[in-house]
Amino acid sequence: MRRGRFAPTPSGPMHIGNAFTALLAWLQMRHASGTFVLRIEDIDGPRSRPEYAQLIVEDLTWMGLDWDEGPATDGPYGPYLQSERLELYEQAVERLQRRGRLYPCYCSRAELAAIASAPHGLASEGAVYPGLCKELSEEERRRKAQVKPPSLRVAVPERSISFEDGMAGVQHVPPGALGDFVVKRADGQFSYQLAVVVDDAAMGITDVLRGADLLDSTPRQLVLYELLEATPPSFCHVPLLCTPEGGRLSKRNRSLSLAALRAAGVPPERLIGYLAYAAGLLDRPEPAQAAELVPLFSLERLSGEQIALSEEALALG
Ligand code: GLU
Repeated sequence: MRRGRFAPTPSGPMHIGNAFTALLAWLQMRHASGTFVLRIEDIDGPRSRPEYAQLIVEDLTWMGLDWDEGPATDGPYGPYLQSERLELYEQAVERLQRRGRLYPCYCSRAELAAIASAPHGLASEGAVYPGLCKELSEEERRRKAQVKPPSLRVAVPERSISFEDGMAGVQHVPPGALGDFVVKRADGQFSYQLAVVVDDAAMGITDVLRGADLLDSTPRQLVLYELLEATPPSFCHVPLLCTPEGGRLSKRNRSLSLAALRAAGVPPERLIGYLAYAAGLLDRPEPAQAAELVPLFSLERLSGEQIALSEEALALG
């Protein structure tokens, strides 16, 4: 049985771009008669707030999307709030540590930023950690640990990574392109990369359908699947909705939030119809219910990394 999920971070009100991803992930599972899981990824420090998690539940319900397992419904793989799963992340970190896959890093943000902005620094290649703390001696580690607690980084194996994405096709990452990334920050917070892999593996997720902005995260996640000896799901990174000018929709842009649409009295069928049209499931943006779209589901007519919203869609609210 296939298992898919929607895994939002409750750091703001859901906007229609999030709704687009949620609709597609839900349709994919309902079409496949699979199980749909809602997982709230709320370990992102002060950015995540319980009231936004509540709003997500209300927004999805308003859209007509239901879930088989999630915070209120619970289920065999719970809890479904990441903040209640910290023990699992700690166990994974300990497992990686026992296998010698992690090393402590004492670099501060300021130091890393300085390296990144130096001429020919990190910025040109993306933020790849240059491995400064990788070869420290035990003595140096002890000395540095007295000054500040370390973050923990994965020593990423020096080889290329290839995978096939359901939307973006074959992806190839050359050795060294990822850099050693953090799984646990100095303040004790676990990173998104670690938590998402631990959870998708522990929850038996077979299909990850999410926004194209996370395509770049996938190779790091594949490294963790390998090091934790877990089977990765199949990945499909769907285009992001963007403004007519190609700009990013943001959770701060409240006029596009579902809460604002609801407050303005927009019927959910209008939003769903528009999203289905943007996904190529309908020929016109006519009102539709999510459940009516299940037999029509296909990803064939979607491509690319972005779909520009029309002025009409922006005027929904
Ligand atoms: N929590 C992540 C976000 O809201 C998405 C995680 C995922 O789908 O892998 O951006």
